Amino acid sequence: GAVDNGDARTYMNGEVSTGPGNQPSPVRVVCATSEHTFELDTDALESVLLQDDLKDLPVAVVSVAGTFRKGKSFLLDFMLRFMYRKNKFWLGSENEPLTGFKWRGGSERETTGIEIWSEIFLSHRADGTQVAILLMDTQGAFDSQSTIRDCATVFALSTMTSSMQVYNLTQNIQEDDLQHLQLFTEYGRLAMEEIVTKPFQQLHVILPLQNLMFLVRDWSFPYEFPYGNTGGKHFLERRLKVSDTQHEELQNVRKHIHRCFSNVDCFLLPHPGLKVATNPNFDGSLKDISIEFKQGLMNLIPHLLLPENLAIKEINGTKLTCRSLVEYFKAYIKIYQG
Ligand code: GDP
Ligand code: MG
Repeated sequence: GAVDNGDARTYMNGEVSTGPGNQPSPVRVVCATSEHTFELDTDALESVLLQDDLKDLPVAVVSVAGTFRKGKSFLLDFMLRFMYRKNKFWLGSENEPLTGFKWRGGSERETTGIEIWSEIFLSHRADGTQVAILLMDTQGAFDSQSTIRDCATVFALSTMTSSMQVYNLTQNIQEDDLQHLQLFTEYGRLAMEEIVTKPFQQLHVILPLQNLMFLVRDWSFPYEFPYGNTGGKHFLERRLKVSDTQHEELQNVRKHIHRCFSNVDCFLLPHPGLKVATNPNFDGSLKDISIEFKQGLMNLIPHLLLPENLAIKEINGTKLTCRSLVEYFKAYIKIYQG
């Protein structure tokens, strides 16, 4: 089924295998094996993207990636509320547990991979056209040498297949966050260039990736750079500035990021409060979340998901439909299957 975002109507005439009762749910489409290769669940991917009423629509893909246990799935569940409710009370009620992509406390890692939401959302743009919106969650651990490559792969795959990659960070944009980004995007772009340019035999074309948003969680210097997108833009400008006095390595990583993405943005999100961060019984209820954080979400999520702010997925200048996205997934995964 698809969700028509225009009138918040859910219809179930598409074929979606979402488990018992056809409840919308996360669907794992990419999974790391114990041998550190990657598998694509083609059936699962196609069940979501090849529904008759959707497959030929242009698609926008919003992905959230970064270190584990930093609130990615938690954030995506608020995106789901925004997509389903579409009224001014979308954030939810005080005592409502937060559901959708599984989020939880604790420090244990989960399996590395990519999940998508089983329902595609439909948005009507001002020009009358429809866009299919896919939400994507990623799991990567970044916890030991052996999995760095796995994480790089998940980050690369999700960046290549999304039109908006939210790079989820905590407290600050550190130098190693930039280095990781450089490593991961280089890992992806090399693969992508090979696939897209091979048939044309032009091997040195540099393909820009699309939109990247640095999302800094638990931002604690609002007196220097205020919360939100405006503060974020100024902060990012400062952080990504290239100057002659910098070490060459610092200059290179910054040039690389500017070169790689067609658009780079930043948002500073406040701390959600101690119950969210430390209480094992916290269920996501709004009553336990700080007001500043809720205000942050009220700004951030429409900024990402309003139809006029959503970019259609493009590869090498061509806009993708749901159907062509499936083909790119298949092509990209081959590269990482070793
Ligand atoms: P993921 O592994 O990145 O998907 O993280 P989860 O969404 O599963 O969240 C991990 C933990 O972080 C949960 O206990 C959440 O309550 C908590 N959490 C969610 N958002 C934030 C945030 O912005 N700041 C802090 N400090 N904790 C958060
Ligand atoms: Mg998660």
